[in-house]
Amino acid sequence: MADLPPLREVIARHGLAASKALGQNFLLDEQLLARIAAIPGDLTGKAVLEVGPGPGGLTRALLRAGARVTAIEMDRRCLPALADLGEAFPGRLRVIEGDALKLDHDAVMAGEPYAVLSNLPYNVGTALFVRWLGGETWPPNWTSLTLMFQQEVAQRIVAAPDSSAYGRLAVLAQWRAEARLAMKVHRSAFTPPPKVMSAIVHVEPAAMPDGVSVRVLERLTEAAFGQRRKMLRQSLKGVPGALDALEALGIDPQRRAETLSFADFTALARGLAS
Ligand code: SAM
Repeated sequence: MADLPPLREVIARHGLAASKALGQNFLLDEQLLARIAAIPGDLTGKAVLEVGPGPGGLTRALLRAGARVTAIEMDRRCLPALADLGEAFPGRLRVIEGDALKLDHDAVMAGEPYAVLSNLPYNVGTALFVRWLGGETWPPNWTSLTLMFQQEVAQRIVAAPDSSAYGRLAVLAQWRAEARLAMKVHRSAFTPPPKVMSAIVHVEPAAMPDGVSVRVLERLTEAAFGQRRKMLRQSLKGVPGALDALEALGIDPQRRAETLSFADFTALARGLAS
């Protein structure tokens, strides 16, 4: 196994003071990083997309786990440190300088299936999450997503119906995928520590219910949870056909959005499409 300098030394050597503007909070505990890299299961020989490698802590854990890593990083200060890492694992690390929000990830991965692992700034992480889960084509080319979020957002992603955290993110994440909270990460694990606690969510694609359009489902959840305290007959009034679909499915229009299961939402979306 490659003998690597401690991450603190890498950061000092390359002058990688954490930039607030780039949402940089680094993970330096190699045992913790190895546990994160193990969440998707055996990565030996597998293609992994890592977004935001920074000084490369998670990257080295992924390489040690046997993965072939493609890493997208927009902070060019990190590139020399990542180049050193690439030399320690010949032919196994490809670094792309760029903004992950602007790149086509399937094209970057040349059509090969890939696992995604990432510790990203929370705003970028949420935007990418919505994109990864919102595609019309299913199953997607990614085989799993293992992503760090602010704990409160992670809880909204894995929330079950009839809970206060249940909303658009939960439906997006769970109507055709399995999402679980894989690990809580204390703020003190980061350098510098963020203000809030974090948690890692792991998502794997599941079967897609027939006859449901993502766009129709999104329109429904946007309306239903946009006025989550209101009864469905009020919140869905502006969605053409929604009240008829409720009646046809025998869903009481006096219920509120948070009481509807994932299956209720997909049945409603199917009803609207027809
Ligand atoms: N993965 C490293 C770790 O765990 O220590 C760094 C985590 S730091 C929270 C987030 C990293 O994402 C930073 O290196 C930052 O430069 C990078 N980043 C932020 N926005 C990005 C974007 N849109 N595309 C690619 N990288 C981005």
